[in-house]
Formats: sequence, structure tokens, C-alpha cells
Amino acid sequence: MFLSRSNIYPQVPIIFKAHFTCCKDVASQHLLSLRLYLTSSQDNAVWDTPVSSSIHFRKSKNWVYQMLICHYCNVFIILASTQQGEVESGTRRKVKRLLSFQRYCHNSRLLRGLVPHTPGSLHLLDDDYLGQAAHMLSKVGTWNFDIFLFDRLTNGNSLVTLMCHLFNVYGLIHHFQLDMVKLHRFLGMVQDDYHSQNPYHNAVHAADVTQAMYCYLKEPKLAEQLSPADVFLGLMAAAAHDVDHPGVNQPFLIKTRHHLASLYQNTSVLESHHWRSTVGMLRESGLLSHLQDMEQQLGSLILATDISRQNEFLLTFREHLDNQDLDLQLASHRHFMLQIALKCADICNPCRVWELSRQWSERVCEEFYRQGDMERKFDLEISPLCNQQADSVPTIQIGFISYIVEPLFEEWHRFTDPSLLSQTMMGHLHKNKARWSLLRYAHNSEPQAHSQAEKPGPEGGGGEGECIP
Ligand SMILES: [Zn+2]
Repeated sequence: MFLSRSNIYPQVPIIFKAHFTCCKDVASQHLLSLRLYLTSSQDNAVWDTPVSSSIHFRKSKNWVYQMLICHYCNVFIILASTQQGEVESGTRRKVKRLLSFQRYCHNSRLLRGLVPHTPGSLHLLDDDYLGQAAHMLSKVGTWNFDIFLFDRLTNGNSLVTLMCHLFNVYGLIHHFQLDMVKLHRFLGMVQDDYHSQNPYHNAVHAADVTQAMYCYLKEPKLAEQLSPADVFLGLMAAAAHDVDHPGVNQPFLIKTRHHLASLYQNTSVLESHHWRSTVGMLRESGLLSHLQDMEQQLGSLILATDISRQNEFLLTFREHLDNQDLDLQLASHRHFMLQIALKCADICNPCRVWELSRQWSERVCEEFYRQGDMERKFDLEISPLCNQQADSVPTIQIGFISYIVEPLFEEWHRFTDPSLLSQTMMGHLHKNKARWSLLRYAHNSEPQAHSQAEKPGPEGGGGEGECIP
């Protein structure tokens, strides 16, 4: 094994580049899990991180170390197994996905996994944690599912863990004859390509949307009619719908003349990128090489999450409900309802219990403010809702709930008849809105902040812009 450091302890972060050599026996098996634990020998600070693209296996006749102790750190390697062909996949991915935001932002999962140690922040993946995560999964269909806790218990692998579980629940692996190694590789790539430094648009948001989507797919009105392909597409689209999100909105990409804005002609830039990135990963993993038509349908679902198309979908949905002409025997109508379900899942934060809802609200506003700070720094006009001095969290949330969330969920409520889940969600939504109103009043926000935040959004017109998830 070769281990090098890019800087000297106790500076943080410490970046390790490690090259492991594994034995032939191990190399011939499938990689199911591999974890690297770094432990400082001086203060017992511990970080753990999943295997990163900066770790390359090299097939060799040599041996594998289960544990290595170095001067500055201990490295624990837990090898489940590995597979020929896994080697260097991280490098290949970088070469192939030239348009990835991540390629430029951070080139190492290892780097992202290293967080400064503070007491009580350790998240070692031991049996106890796994047991609790498994227990949580047994209640994955409940609306108060705490995705933040689940993410901690799975050591930042909530998306992969959740997707594998749901695929098992629905028997999708067997039904579509999916290769487990390809599935794991694909899900790992998707999770990896979310930016963990984004306060909001990260893999936990994707896992949260996936969990909400699962709850909606279980709605009696839908569940009885959905085919395995519908369920498969719904879950896949939820998991990948924001992949490689840069943490800034479309207007920002347009005004900074980002190459993706030109590539997609300033239309659904982010959603197109999420979809095309997903297609790239699907092809690279070979997961769906034996299935047809999935890529286009996946695209249609992901593109529906473009919030500037909200009115278009809302009006069609309303019309169907008024005319009572939704026929879920028709594949096209089921696909439309999958689009609506995904849109609901994507903006369902205000319908969650307050403690979870509040965290999401603060995270999304933090992401807006970061964009605003960047715009200020580069002397660009600050986008609506992105000015921390003028736009408070309560005012942003009240505008978001009133103009975006309530109109859609009122129709969803109607569609479900309403179901128990819909009633619960509407209850939370109204309570949360009232709570934000109280907070706004208490914070005594400035008048111009109110008037701006209550407008539909940063793109003006009918669009709420990409600021909103
Ligand atoms: Zn989203």
C-alpha cells in the first residue's frame, strides 16, 4: 500500500491518496462494500468515508491488508469483495462525464468525506448504527420518517441504502433481472455526483424526495394501477432528479454564461443536465442495457421537476380532476400522475412535520444566500430571495407555500380522495405556514423583504425560478 498526504497534521482537512493492492481472490469477487476509516493517532479523531474515486485498485498477485497503522493515522480497510473491472472506474467516469460540475468543484469523494472532528459528531458505521438504520427502514413508508437521522445512521449513504431497500420491497431486481453489481455501481455514482457541500441540493434531498415518492406510490388511488415499470421509473427519477446540481439556479448559469446554459439553450438547463448525467451513468454502469425506452421516460419525469413549468402541469392536473377523466389504465395518464407525484415529492418539505420542515427551509435559504453572496462578490445583480439582508427565511417560506406548494397539494388532496396521508400533509402545511407567519411577525422583517418574497419568484412572470427546489 502506498499512502501519501497532501498536507501535514493537524491541519484540516488532511487529504490522503491511497493506492491499495489486493489479492487475486478478492479481485475476482464482486465489490459490495468497501470502507476506509482514517484515525488520527494523536487525538483519536476519527473520520470515516466510503471508498472514493481517488482510491484505485490494482489487480496484482500481492496481498491485501485488513489494517495498516501508519505514523500519522490508522487506516482500517473493510473489504467485502471486489470485482475485476471496478478498478479505475472513478477515473474513467471523470473522463467520460466532461460536463459534470463536480469534476471542477471537487475531484475526490474522500475529500468530501473528511470533516473536522467535533465531539459527538462521529458516525461510525457499526452494528448498532446498522441495526437502527434497519429498524428505520421497516417504517420507511411513514410520513414522519427522519431522513437526516437515517443519513447519519447509514454514514451518508441514505440514497443508496434507501433505493436498494425499496427495489427489494417491490421485487424490482428480480422483475427486471437487474445485475446487483451494476445497480450498486449506478446508485453509488448517482449518490456520489450530488454535491455534499450544497446545503440543500445534495444526496439527502434526493433520498428525501425518494422516500416521499415511495409514500405517494403507495397511495391507494395510484398503487392499484401502477406497473412495475412505473414504480421503477418513479423511484429512479426521484433518486436522480437533481444529480450534479451546482447549488445555483438557472438564471445564475445564464447570466454567468455557463457552457451548460448554451448547450441547453437557456431552457430547463439544470433539469436537462440532471437527466443527461443520469443517462450517462446508466450507460456507463450498463444497468439498463437489456431494457428499452427507459431513458426517455426518465427524462420526461426529471424534466417535469422544472418549477417554471409548474403552471402548465397544475392546469392540466386541475382540468383532469374537474372533468374526472383520469384513466389510470392508460400508460400516458399513469405517466402524467408519476410526473405530478414527483413534483409533489420535490416540494413536499412544507408538508412535513415542523422539525423536519424547518431544517429543509433553513437549508434551502442558506443555498439561496450563498448564491446571493457570490453575486455580490462578482458585482452581479442579486437574484430575488437570495439577499440575506432583505429576504428572511419566514418570508421566503410563506411565499413558497402560498404560490407553489398549496396550489399543487390542494389538487393532490383532491386526487387522493383525500387519503389519510393527504390529510396529514395538509395539516402540517397549514400549521407550518402559521408558524412561519408568527416567526415573521416576531422577527419584524423589513417591509421590502415582505413584498419581494411574496412575489412568485426570481424569474418573474409565472416562473418561480430554480431557487425553489
Ligand atoms: Zn429537487
